[in-house]
Amino acid sequence: MKIGIDIGGSHIGIGLIEGSQIVAVKEKNFNREDRKNMEQTIIFCIQEIIDELLIESHLTIEEVELIGIAAPGTISNGVIVKAGNLGLHNFQILTQLQKIYKTPMQMRNDGKCAALAEKVYGAMKDYEDCVFINIGTGIGGAAFLGGKLLEPKRYSGFEFGHMVLNKGGRFCSCGKYGCFEAYSSIKALKNKVTETLDVDSDISGQYLREELLTKEDSRVQEDIEVFLEYLKTGIGNLIDIFEPEVVCLGGSFAYYEGNPIFDQLLKKLHEPTTSFNNGDLPKIVMANFKNNAGIIGAVIE
Ligand SMILES: [Zn+2]
Repeated sequence: MKIGIDIGGSHIGIGLIEGSQIVAVKEKNFNREDRKNMEQTIIFCIQEIIDELLIESHLTIEEVELIGIAAPGTISNGVIVKAGNLGLHNFQILTQLQKIYKTPMQMRNDGKCAALAEKVYGAMKDYEDCVFINIGTGIGGAAFLGGKLLEPKRYSGFEFGHMVLNKGGRFCSCGKYGCFEAYSSIKALKNKVTETLDVDSDISGQYLREELLTKEDSRVQEDIEVFLEYLKTGIGNLIDIFEPEVVCLGGSFAYYEGNPIFDQLLKKLHEPTTSFNNGDLPKIVMANFKNNAGIIGAVIE
């Protein structure tokens, strides 16, 4: 048995994993109070949820062979160097967890973990050249060429969300202006739509999808249009760089499968202005494991 931990921008999810199967899973959303001391919140949540999972599954920590962590932002040697969405800087997470657990641990960027889960077990398993784009609180991802995950020596790299699509545009949590994720993350869409409708932005992804985005309000439709235009541009750029056989869309955006917004995106992607090869697109698929991809991928060695 392994334990996979996914630290997202808005919640933490932890699962007991056997192969590609999640045997049990629990999650906790961060509230405003939790965000005041994010480091403490993360360590406390991990301990609390692991305890609950083990008790409910009649397991002991000694029966766990690996704890894998999918962490946001830039990771280096067990340290979260920078995670803008959570306001973390040089968080020595592995050192702190090793004081609590003697179990072997590994940590990777969350976009890469989710990508590995889809590559090894999920929507990208039949392809060698793949781009995975995680669209959630932020936008992250990974790329495989010839079946191999591309991993730089310095920082995590593949910060797809921080390629600038609108120079001097919206401010991004990374400190730059006009980043892809400032327009096309689910958080950016939520912020824009709740601002347009003048409602509290503290809402669930499901409420956003099913209640707010379905409103027949021309201002909301315009917000969706801006979100999709940037999404198309970002995906088009990545297709031109990597020329993958498949592009897999994950994160909370995976819940838009079957939603008119996904159909609108596919239509836009097929316009001849999307990519260098004039609309000769790779396959565009949604992630099989949806938001659980990070938990599963965290324990892939
Ligand atoms: Zn940015």
